[in-house]
This record gives sequence, structure tokens and C-alpha cells, in this order.
Amino acid sequence: MAPVEKQLIVFDFDWSMADQDTDRWIFEVLAPDLRRKMKTLKFDIQWTDLVAQSLREAHGRGITRAQIENALQIMPFHPAMARAVDNLKNGGRTDFLCLSNSNSVFISTILEHKKLTHIFNDIVTNPAEWDAELLKLRRRVDPTGPQHTCTVGCSPNMCKGEELEAFLARHGKKFDRIVYVGDGSNDFCPILRLREQDLVLCRSHRGLQQRIDKEGTEKGLKPKIQYWAGAWEVEEIFATL
Ligand SMILES: [Mg+2]
Ligand SMILES: [Zn+2]
Repeated sequence: MAPVEKQLIVFDFDWSMADQDTDRWIFEVLAPDLRRKMKTLKFDIQWTDLVAQSLREAHGRGITRAQIENALQIMPFHPAMARAVDNLKNGGRTDFLCLSNSNSVFISTILEHKKLTHIFNDIVTNPAEWDAELLKLRRRVDPTGPQHTCTVGCSPNMCKGEELEAFLARHGKKFDRIVYVGDGSNDFCPILRLREQDLVLCRSHRGLQQRIDKEGTEKGLKPKIQYWAGAWEVEEIFATL
């Protein structure tokens, strides 16, 4: 195989780079009854809208910006993952893209706390901003405008496959290898766009593995798949890239 001069690592955030799910965690920490309500309503309300609504309810009962930031800072994040990405970034031939259905504030708050803000060349996620103590969150794709055209089964709002292709077109860069780190069912669409020389680091026993097992062959999945359970294993694999 030809040597890899330039590679791209694409990271899902929740349960991939981080060891938890941001949207659910903050309510588990600060307002478990809202967490329960989200679980009940998730089939009726689009997920990002549901998180936005829950943030408004949390604000209504006096939950502060400092409390939410603290919850994010104490969220599980494996030190081996921090080392793994930092070492690979320092190697100088790797770009990083984050594709996440969380939001810009949750992700940047955690990256700042872990001193990892230098890692990503681009973070594609739902836009959020603080308005005093209220975190205002919107869908990445405006629900009143044109929606994604994906037919692989991506839920409304974000198609990570289209977002990956848009990133590659936007940067006009050629990568000898793309490595995709993900765990969820919405990480299946982007890995269908990868080539034989690419690699998927799939977290075991979650939605992505289930879709690979069920639809991978039929949909012509090309990249090599490597499974991992703990971030220390990602660190091991990254050391060989
Ligand atoms: Mg995930
Ligand atoms: Zn898609």
C-alpha cells in the first residue's frame, strides 16, 4: 500500500470522542425528570428540537449556565482519548473533522476544558449560543428550508454522509486515508461513502455495529472495519496510523 502522506480523522462526538452522550448527560446530572420526559417524547419530537425545549424548561426552573458548563466538564472523557488525538495531531499529517448531532456549545465547552480546542479543523454540528443563562439551540438544517436528500435512513436535520462530502468539497483536499470513529446508527451513512483504503473504528455493540451487521454487505460497504470498546484501544490504533 502506498504511504499515507495526508489523512483525515472524522470523529463523531457522543460515545466516540467522549465517553457519554452530551444531550442526555446534562439532564441526568441536573434534571432527571426532564431526562425521563425526553425519553418519553423522543419518538414524537425531532431530537434537536426536544433538547432545545428541555433547555428552555431547565432555564425556566432556574438551572444556570454555570451548572450546565460544570455538568459538561465532569462528563466522562477518557484520558487515553485526549492523548490519542493530541499525539496524532502533533504528528502533523492528520486533519480532524467533527461530525456531531450534539451542539457547538456542548462540544466547545468540553474541548476547552480538556485543552483540545486545537484538534479540529472543522466542527459540523447544531448551532447553539448563550443568551445570558439560557442556551439557545437550533437545528443545523432549518426545518422550514430545504432538507437533506439522503435515502440511507438518516433522520431529519443532519445527514453525516452529505456533511462529510461537503467538507471534502469545501476543503478541496485529497486524503490518502480517511479514518471514521463512530458508534451510532447515524454514522452508517458517512462510512458508506468511504473507500477501500479507508478505515472505520466502530465502537462495539452500539447502533453503528448493528447497521454494519445488517446492511453492510447489501449496501456495499468498502472500508476496513476495526472494533473497539475503550478509548485505550483507539489510542493503540492511532499510534499505528
Ligand atoms: Mg455517537
Ligand atoms: Zn445520510
